[in-house]
Amino acid sequence: MALTVVIVGSGPAGFYAAEALARKAAGASIDILDRLPTPYGLVRAGVAPDHQGNKAVTRVFERVATRPGVRFLGDVEVGRDVSVAELAGLYDAVILAVGATQDRCLGIPGDDKAGVLGSFRFVGWYNGHPDFADRDFDLQAESVAVIGNGNVAIDVARVLAKTPAEMAAADICPHAAARIAAAPIRDIHVFGRRGPVEANFTNPELAELLRLEGAVALADPADLPADIGAVDEKARKTKEANLATLRAFAANAPEAKPKRIRFHFHRAPRAVLGTTRVEGLRLERTRAHANDPAGMGGTVDVPCGLVITCIGYRCHPLPGVPMDEARGIVASVDGRVAQGLYAVGWAKRGPSGTIPTNRADSAAVVDLLLADLGSGADRPGPAGLDRMLAERRLHPVTFDDWKRIDAAETTAARAPAPRLKLTRRADLLAAAQGG
Ligand code: NAP
Repeated sequence: MALTVVIVGSGPAGFYAAEALARKAAGASIDILDRLPTPYGLVRAGVAPDHQGNKAVTRVFERVATRPGVRFLGDVEVGRDVSVAELAGLYDAVILAVGATQDRCLGIPGDDKAGVLGSFRFVGWYNGHPDFADRDFDLQAESVAVIGNGNVAIDVARVLAKTPAEMAAADICPHAAARIAAAPIRDIHVFGRRGPVEANFTNPELAELLRLEGAVALADPADLPADIGAVDEKARKTKEANLATLRAFAANAPEAKPKRIRFHFHRAPRAVLGTTRVEGLRLERTRAHANDPAGMGGTVDVPCGLVITCIGYRCHPLPGVPMDEARGIVASVDGRVAQGLYAVGWAKRGPSGTIPTNRADSAAVVDLLLADLGSGADRPGPAGLDRMLAERRLHPVTFDDWKRIDAAETTAARAPAPRLKLTRRADLLAAAQGG
């Protein structure tokens, strides 16, 4: 009997799991569900709008979605429209590819003030995620603090720093692009609680900041070590390249361009200052050139009107699914939550790695699943889900429907932008019907 598998979440981890299943389990029926009417998860809502090259992977996912036996069902929310337990009753296996959709909290005094934004919300807003379509962030600040030393911090700093001309070929939402362009931002401070060698930046992303039209990247030479010291051999090339790039930042002149992106290392945030709105950030110096974010005492206050935290994400808990609360992920052993229930991607390992990381990671979980289950039992599978959704008067968005949304968005785009995203669920559903 052929396997029936349902994958919850249509981001990279979910699609790579479907690809591996389609390759390894001949005849399997694979349903990919998403709570949004659109597929591709983080590729659509997380990848920076000016990094279109990183979105080309959707062509691979499209080939998966159109394989015999594979279906996309959008606008079906697991936990609201159908439960994980119900899916487990319908299919031989359930794979949770739900990502990590909650911002980690800073957990310092004042972090609830107006003007403190988590990167999930902020990036979701400028990328047109329907959950944030009606948000209207106040960006009236000359100085912005971006907290974190990962690629999301770089994305956020760059999107705030680029000129409208530089963003013309991006699929950023026009309302966000206009709001950013009108903001009086002059200084974007990027704070790392550890040093340049411990930062998680990849070098192409860091080095891109040397080529911005209207912003100059800066670093304090005193923050930069003479060499990278002892590091894991696999990381050596990136760390050396990052240090060289930061040296180039340190040689830049602050007045060279209208905006400045200032990198500060060994600065741990201790309090957000202000009355109701952010007016500044208090930071404590941490031990230099040590893999340790512990404070050394002594603080400095940096005035800023906006704090954007880029400090990682947690997985949204699903009823009936065990969580590893400390890590904010689904509790599993190598992706096996229980017999017949698996987790992949950020839900399994936390918010780490690039899109291609998910290919091997999801394939390894599929291997586990196939070793556990071998062949399918006699389950209702896709036909059972169709009956359940019809009884509940729910009408999933099919992949053909998505192609109509895609066509509507690409047709509406103003060149050189590749698409004009629809950001409201009702508009997406109307476009799905050809409206
Ligand atoms: P990340 O690389 O894990 O960076 C998170 C940063 O937040 C770290 O520097 C961390 O410092 C810091 N942090 C955590 N808690 C903090 C706190 N309480 N106070 C101050 N700093 C704190 O995560 P990310 O930037 O969100 O990226 C997620 C994943 O997506 C990464 O794998 C990234 O490479 C990937 N991504 C890739 C691209 C791309 O390829 N272009 C773009 C965006 C994202 P510590 O190290 O000290 O914990």
